[in-house]
Amino acid sequence: MKPFKYQKAKDEKAAVQASKAGMRFLAGGTNLVDLMKEGVESPSGLVDINGVKLNQIRATKDAVVIGALARNKDTANHPLIREHFPMLTRAILAGASAQIRNMATNGGNINQRTRCMYFYDTSMPCNKRNPGSGCAAIGGLNRMHAVFGWDEKCVAVHPSDMAVALSALNASINVIGSDGATRKIVIGDYHTLPAADPSKDNTLRAGELVTSIELPKNRFAANSYYLKVRDRASYAFALVSVAAGLALEGGKIADARVSLGGVAHKPWRVFSAEAYLKGKAPTAEVFAEAGVMAMEGARALKDNAFKIKLAEKAVARALEKAANTKG
Ligand code: SF4
Repeated sequence: MKPFKYQKAKDEKAAVQASKAGMRFLAGGTNLVDLMKEGVESPSGLVDINGVKLNQIRATKDAVVIGALARNKDTANHPLIREHFPMLTRAILAGASAQIRNMATNGGNINQRTRCMYFYDTSMPCNKRNPGSGCAAIGGLNRMHAVFGWDEKCVAVHPSDMAVALSALNASINVIGSDGATRKIVIGDYHTLPAADPSKDNTLRAGELVTSIELPKNRFAANSYYLKVRDRASYAFALVSVAAGLALEGGKIADARVSLGGVAHKPWRVFSAEAYLKGKAPTAEVFAEAGVMAMEGARALKDNAFKIKLAEKAVARALEKAANTKG
Protein backbone atom coordinates (compact mmCIF):
# COMPACT_ATOMS: atom_id res chain seq x y z
CA MET A 1 0.00 0.00 0.00
CA LYS A 2 1.31 3.48 -0.86
CA PRO A 3 1.75 5.99 2.00
CA PHE A 4 -1.18 8.39 2.41
CA LYS A 5 -2.22 11.28 4.63
CA TYR A 6 -4.91 10.78 7.24
CA GLN A 7 -7.07 13.34 8.99
CA LYS A 8 -10.38 13.46 10.81
CA ALA A 9 -13.28 15.75 9.94
CA LYS A 10 -15.65 16.94 12.64
CA ASP A 11 -18.41 18.16 10.33
CA GLU A 12 -19.60 18.10 6.71
CA LYS A 13 -17.86 21.36 5.88
CA ALA A 14 -14.46 20.11 7.02
CA ALA A 15 -15.01 16.85 5.16
CA VAL A 16 -15.80 18.44 1.80
CA GLN A 17 -12.99 20.96 2.24
CA ALA A 18 -10.52 18.09 2.66
CA SER A 19 -11.92 16.35 -0.41
CA LYS A 20 -11.24 19.53 -2.36
CA ALA A 21 -7.57 18.87 -1.69
CA GLY A 22 -7.90 15.41 -3.27
CA MET A 23 -8.51 13.40 -0.10
CA ARG A 24 -11.01 10.53 -0.20
CA PHE A 25 -13.74 10.00 2.37
CA LEU A 26 -13.19 7.15 4.80
CA ALA A 27 -16.32 5.81 6.51
CA GLY A 28 -16.63 2.07 7.28
CA GLY A 29 -13.67 1.40 5.01
CA THR A 30 -14.98 -2.05 4.08
CA ASN A 31 -14.36 -1.54 0.36
CA LEU A 32 -11.92 1.36 -0.03
CA VAL A 33 -9.30 -0.03 2.35
CA ASP A 34 -9.36 -3.39 0.52
CA LEU A 35 -8.89 -1.59 -2.78
CA MET A 36 -5.94 0.34 -1.36
CA LYS A 37 -4.33 -2.85 -0.05
CA GLU A 38 -4.65 -4.41 -3.51
CA GLY A 39 -3.17 -1.34 -5.20
CA VAL A 40 -6.38 -0.73 -7.16
CA GLU A 41 -6.89 2.67 -5.55
CA SER A 42 -4.12 4.85 -4.17
CA PRO A 43 -5.51 8.13 -2.85
CA SER A 44 -3.06 10.72 -1.58
CA GLY A 45 -5.04 11.02 1.62
CA LEU A 46 -8.09 9.89 3.56
CA VAL A 47 -10.42 12.13 5.49
CA ASP A 48 -12.10 10.11 8.22
CA ILE A 49 -15.75 11.16 8.38
CA ASN A 50 -16.87 8.84 11.16
CA GLY A 51 -17.11 11.81 13.55
CA VAL A 52 -19.53 13.69 11.28
CA LYS A 53 -23.09 13.51 12.56
CA LEU A 54 -24.77 11.81 9.63
CA ASN A 55 -26.03 8.67 11.30
CA GLN A 56 -29.61 9.57 12.15
CA ILE A 57 -32.63 7.67 10.89
CA ARG A 58 -35.78 9.79 11.13
CA ALA A 59 -39.27 10.18 9.72
CA THR A 60 -40.41 13.32 7.92
CA LYS A 61 -43.92 14.08 6.64
CA ASP A 62 -43.40 12.25 3.34
CA ALA A 63 -40.39 10.05 3.84
CA VAL A 64 -37.92 8.31 6.09
CA VAL A 65 -34.42 9.74 5.88
CA ILE A 66 -31.46 7.49 6.64
CA GLY A 67 -28.10 9.08 7.36
CA ALA A 68 -25.22 8.24 5.07
CA LEU A 69 -23.13 7.22 8.06
CA ALA A 70 -25.75 5.03 9.74
CA ARG A 71 -24.34 1.51 9.78
CA ASN A 72 -26.01 -1.09 7.58
CA LYS A 73 -26.83 -3.21 10.66
CA ASP A 74 -28.54 -0.30 12.43
CA THR A 75 -30.45 0.67 9.30
CA ALA A 76 -31.72 -2.85 8.61
CA ASN A 77 -32.91 -3.27 12.18
CA HIS A 78 -34.38 0.18 12.75
CA PRO A 79 -38.12 0.03 13.60
CA LEU A 80 -38.99 2.62 10.91
CA ILE A 81 -37.25 0.55 8.25
CA ARG A 82 -38.60 -2.79 9.44
CA GLU A 83 -42.14 -1.44 9.53
CA HIS A 84 -42.29 0.69 6.38
CA PHE A 85 -39.52 -0.69 4.15
CA PRO A 86 -39.11 -4.39 5.00
CA MET A 87 -37.76 -5.01 1.49
CA LEU A 88 -34.79 -2.82 2.42
CA THR A 89 -34.21 -4.73 5.65
CA ARG A 90 -34.16 -8.00 3.71
CA ALA A 91 -31.80 -6.60 1.07
CA ILE A 92 -29.29 -5.24 3.58
CA LEU A 93 -29.31 -8.46 5.60
CA ALA A 94 -28.73 -10.45 2.39
CA GLY A 95 -25.45 -8.58 1.83
CA ALA A 96 -21.95 -9.36 3.08
CA SER A 97 -21.48 -10.76 6.60
CA ALA A 98 -22.62 -9.64 10.06
CA GLN A 99 -19.13 -8.25 10.77
CA ILE A 100 -19.12 -6.18 7.57
CA ARG A 101 -22.68 -4.94 8.11
CA ASN A 102 -21.61 -3.73 11.57
CA MET A 103 -18.97 -1.50 9.97
CA ALA A 104 -20.36 -0.64 6.53
CA THR A 105 -22.33 2.58 6.15
CA ASN A 106 -25.26 3.40 3.90
CA GLY A 107 -23.26 5.90 1.85
CA GLY A 108 -20.44 3.40 1.44
CA ASN A 109 -22.83 0.64 0.46
CA ILE A 110 -24.28 2.47 -2.52
CA ASN A 111 -20.82 3.72 -3.55
CA GLN A 112 -19.06 0.35 -3.34
CA ARG A 113 -17.22 -0.71 -6.45
CA THR A 114 -17.72 -3.74 -8.66
CA ARG A 115 -16.40 -7.12 -7.60
CA CYS A 116 -15.28 -8.00 -11.14
CA MET A 117 -12.17 -10.08 -10.44
CA TYR A 118 -10.20 -8.33 -13.18
CA PHE A 119 -10.83 -4.97 -11.55
CA TYR A 120 -8.96 -6.27 -8.49
CA ASP A 121 -6.15 -7.89 -10.51
CA THR A 122 -3.73 -5.08 -11.36
CA SER A 123 -1.89 -7.29 -13.88
CA MET A 124 -4.98 -7.42 -16.14
CA PRO A 125 -6.46 -4.82 -18.48
CA CYS A 126 -9.47 -3.06 -17.01
CA ASN A 127 -11.10 0.13 -18.30
CA LYS A 128 -12.62 0.80 -14.92
CA ARG A 129 -9.31 0.69 -13.05
CA ASN A 130 -7.07 1.88 -15.87
CA PRO A 131 -9.08 3.75 -18.54
CA GLY A 132 -8.20 2.79 -22.11
CA SER A 133 -6.47 -0.48 -21.16
CA GLY A 134 -9.33 -2.73 -22.33
CA CYS A 135 -11.69 -5.14 -20.63
CA ALA A 136 -10.32 -8.53 -19.58
CA ALA A 137 -13.77 -9.82 -18.69
CA ILE A 138 -15.23 -9.73 -22.20
CA GLY A 139 -13.01 -12.54 -23.44
CA GLY A 140 -12.31 -13.94 -19.99
CA LEU A 141 -14.40 -15.46 -17.24
CA ASN A 142 -17.68 -13.58 -17.24
CA ARG A 143 -20.15 -15.82 -15.48
CA MET A 144 -20.92 -13.13 -12.86
CA HIS A 145 -21.19 -10.25 -15.31
CA ALA A 146 -23.91 -8.17 -16.95
CA VAL A 147 -26.71 -9.14 -19.32
CA PHE A 148 -28.19 -5.63 -19.58
CA GLY A 149 -26.69 -2.23 -20.36
CA TRP A 150 -23.13 -3.41 -21.05
CA ASP A 151 -20.87 -2.54 -23.94
CA GLU A 152 -17.39 -3.59 -25.02
CA LYS A 153 -15.83 -1.11 -22.60
CA CYS A 154 -17.10 -2.80 -19.44
CA VAL A 155 -19.43 -5.68 -18.57
CA ALA A 156 -19.26 -5.40 -14.78
CA VAL A 157 -22.28 -5.45 -12.47
CA HIS A 158 -23.00 -3.29 -9.43
CA PRO A 159 -22.56 -5.40 -6.30
CA SER A 160 -24.89 -3.69 -3.80
CA ASP A 161 -28.04 -5.45 -2.59
CA MET A 162 -29.15 -2.36 -0.72
CA ALA A 163 -29.10 -0.28 -3.92
CA VAL A 164 -31.47 -2.71 -5.65
CA ALA A 165 -34.08 -2.24 -2.93
CA LEU A 166 -33.50 1.54 -3.03
CA SER A 167 -34.14 1.41 -6.77
CA ALA A 168 -37.46 -0.40 -6.26
CA LEU A 169 -38.36 2.10 -3.53
CA ASN A 170 -37.47 5.05 -5.78
CA ALA A 171 -35.17 6.54 -3.15
CA SER A 172 -33.25 9.80 -3.55
CA ILE A 173 -29.64 10.46 -2.61
CA ASN A 174 -28.81 13.78 -0.91
CA VAL A 175 -25.29 15.11 -1.46
CA ILE A 176 -23.24 18.19 -0.56
CA GLY A 177 -20.42 19.60 -2.68
CA SER A 178 -17.16 21.24 -1.67
CA ASP A 179 -18.79 24.65 -2.29
CA GLY A 180 -21.55 23.78 0.19
CA ALA A 181 -24.17 23.35 -2.57
CA THR A 182 -26.60 20.49 -2.02
CA ARG A 183 -28.27 18.25 -4.59
CA LYS A 184 -30.91 15.53 -4.53
CA ILE A 185 -30.39 12.72 -7.05
CA VAL A 186 -33.12 10.16 -7.76
CA ILE A 187 -31.61 6.70 -7.45
CA GLY A 188 -32.34 5.87 -11.10
CA ASP A 189 -30.05 8.75 -12.09
CA TYR A 190 -27.39 8.02 -9.48
CA HIS A 191 -25.65 4.88 -10.75
CA THR A 192 -24.47 4.90 -14.35
CA LEU A 193 -24.00 2.55 -17.29
CA PRO A 194 -20.46 2.09 -18.61
CA ALA A 195 -20.98 3.48 -22.13
CA ALA A 196 -20.00 7.07 -21.33
CA ASP A 197 -17.16 6.33 -18.93
CA PRO A 198 -16.59 2.86 -17.45
CA SER A 199 -14.26 4.27 -14.79
CA LYS A 200 -17.28 5.95 -13.18
CA ASP A 201 -19.95 4.15 -11.18
CA ASN A 202 -22.25 7.06 -10.41
CA THR A 203 -23.02 10.72 -11.05
CA LEU A 204 -21.34 12.08 -7.92
CA ARG A 205 -19.15 15.05 -8.80
CA ALA A 206 -15.58 15.34 -7.56
CA GLY A 207 -15.55 16.09 -3.84
CA GLU A 208 -19.28 15.54 -3.28
CA LEU A 209 -20.30 13.76 -0.11
CA VAL A 210 -23.44 11.65 0.28
CA THR A 211 -25.25 12.96 3.37
CA SER A 212 -28.45 10.92 3.45
CA ILE A 213 -30.85 8.70 1.55
CA GLU A 214 -34.53 9.55 1.38
CA LEU A 215 -37.14 6.81 1.21
CA PRO A 216 -40.49 8.18 0.05
CA LYS A 217 -43.64 6.78 1.61
CA ASN A 218 -44.90 3.80 -0.35
CA ARG A 219 -47.74 1.30 -0.57
CA PHE A 220 -45.55 -1.80 -0.71
CA ALA A 221 -44.69 -2.50 2.93
CA ALA A 222 -47.30 -5.23 3.39
CA ASN A 223 -46.36 -7.11 0.24
CA SER A 224 -42.70 -6.88 -0.62
CA TYR A 225 -39.71 -9.17 -0.89
CA TYR A 226 -36.02 -9.23 -1.70
CA LEU A 227 -34.82 -12.45 -3.28
CA LYS A 228 -31.11 -13.06 -3.74
CA VAL A 229 -29.84 -16.02 -5.74
CA ARG A 230 -26.17 -16.79 -5.16
CA ASP A 231 -23.66 -19.60 -5.28
CA ARG A 232 -23.67 -20.14 -1.50
CA ALA A 233 -26.04 -19.23 1.30
CA SER A 234 -24.12 -16.28 2.76
CA TYR A 235 -21.25 -13.90 2.12
CA ALA A 236 -21.58 -14.10 -1.66
CA PHE A 237 -22.56 -11.57 -4.28
CA ALA A 238 -25.76 -12.07 -6.25
CA LEU A 239 -25.92 -14.04 -9.45
CA VAL A 240 -29.31 -12.41 -9.72
CA SER A 241 -31.45 -10.59 -7.18
CA VAL A 242 -34.95 -9.14 -7.26
CA ALA A 243 -36.59 -6.43 -5.18
CA ALA A 244 -40.34 -6.78 -5.61
CA GLY A 245 -43.20 -4.76 -4.16
CA LEU A 246 -46.93 -5.09 -4.74
CA ALA A 247 -49.82 -2.87 -3.69
CA LEU A 248 -52.83 -5.19 -3.61
CA GLU A 249 -56.38 -3.83 -3.65
CA GLY A 250 -59.60 -5.78 -4.09
CA GLY A 251 -57.78 -8.87 -5.30
CA LYS A 252 -55.87 -6.94 -7.99
CA ILE A 253 -52.41 -5.42 -8.29
CA ALA A 254 -52.90 -1.67 -7.97
CA ASP A 255 -49.20 -0.87 -8.24
CA ALA A 256 -45.92 -2.79 -8.56
CA ARG A 257 -42.19 -2.32 -8.34
CA VAL A 258 -39.56 -4.66 -9.74
CA SER A 259 -35.83 -4.03 -9.74
CA LEU A 260 -33.02 -6.46 -10.50
CA GLY A 261 -29.49 -6.83 -9.15
CA GLY A 262 -26.54 -8.77 -10.55
CA VAL A 263 -27.55 -8.08 -14.14
CA ALA A 264 -26.18 -4.62 -14.96
CA HIS A 265 -23.73 -1.85 -14.02
CA LYS A 266 -26.58 -0.32 -11.99
CA PRO A 267 -29.72 -1.58 -10.29
CA TRP A 268 -32.02 -2.50 -13.16
CA ARG A 269 -35.56 -1.30 -12.61
CA VAL A 270 -38.03 -3.03 -14.93
CA PHE A 271 -40.75 -0.51 -15.76
CA SER A 272 -42.26 -2.75 -18.46
CA ALA A 273 -42.96 -5.56 -15.97
CA GLU A 274 -44.33 -3.04 -13.44
CA ALA A 275 -46.75 -1.65 -16.05
CA TYR A 276 -47.81 -5.16 -17.09
CA LEU A 277 -48.60 -6.15 -13.50
CA LYS A 278 -50.91 -3.19 -12.80
CA GLY A 279 -54.57 -4.17 -12.83
CA LYS A 280 -53.85 -7.92 -13.05
CA ALA A 281 -54.74 -10.57 -10.51
CA PRO A 282 -51.72 -11.74 -8.46
CA THR A 283 -51.48 -15.21 -9.98
CA ALA A 284 -48.53 -17.50 -10.71
CA GLU A 285 -49.19 -17.15 -14.46
CA VAL A 286 -49.10 -13.36 -14.29
CA PHE A 287 -45.89 -13.42 -12.25
CA ALA A 288 -44.27 -15.87 -14.69
CA GLU A 289 -45.15 -13.57 -17.60
CA ALA A 290 -43.72 -10.59 -15.71
CA GLY A 291 -40.48 -12.57 -15.31
CA VAL A 292 -40.24 -13.22 -19.04
CA MET A 293 -41.01 -9.57 -19.75
CA ALA A 294 -38.37 -8.40 -17.27
CA MET A 295 -35.63 -10.18 -19.20
CA GLU A 296 -36.65 -9.03 -22.68
CA GLY A 297 -33.65 -7.46 -24.41
CA ALA A 298 -31.07 -9.22 -22.21
CA ARG A 299 -27.78 -10.01 -23.98
CA ALA A 300 -25.66 -12.83 -22.59
CA LEU A 301 -21.88 -13.00 -22.59
CA LYS A 302 -19.91 -16.22 -23.14
CA ASP A 303 -20.49 -17.66 -19.65
CA ASN A 304 -23.65 -16.09 -18.29
CA ALA A 305 -26.59 -17.08 -20.53
CA PHE A 306 -27.92 -19.03 -17.54
CA LYS A 307 -28.66 -15.70 -15.80
CA ILE A 308 -31.50 -14.89 -18.19
CA LYS A 309 -33.62 -17.93 -17.36
CA LEU A 310 -32.56 -17.71 -13.72
CA ALA A 311 -33.69 -14.09 -13.50
CA GLU A 312 -37.02 -14.85 -15.22
CA LYS A 313 -37.74 -17.46 -12.55
CA ALA A 314 -36.39 -15.25 -9.75
CA VAL A 315 -38.73 -12.39 -10.70
CA ALA A 316 -41.73 -14.73 -10.67
CA ARG A 317 -40.64 -16.20 -7.35
CA ALA A 318 -40.00 -12.81 -5.73
CA LEU A 319 -43.42 -11.54 -6.84
CA GLU A 320 -45.08 -14.67 -5.49
CA LYS A 321 -43.27 -14.21 -2.18
CA ALA A 322 -44.26 -10.54 -2.09
CA ALA A 323 -47.91 -11.42 -2.70
CA ASN A 324 -47.89 -13.94 0.12
CA THR A 325 -45.39 -12.49 2.59
CA LYS A 326 -46.32 -9.94 5.16
CA GLY A 327 -43.26 -7.68 4.88
FE1 SF4 B 1 -12.76 -3.88 -15.78
FE2 SF4 B 1 -15.35 -3.64 -16.21
FE3 SF4 B 1 -13.95 -5.20 -17.78
FE4 SF4 B 1 -14.31 -5.91 -15.24
S1 SF4 B 1 -15.87 -5.75 -16.78
S2 SF4 B 1 -12.40 -6.00 -16.44
S3 SF4 B 1 -14.40 -3.91 -14.23
S4 SF4 B 1 -13.70 -2.98 -17.56
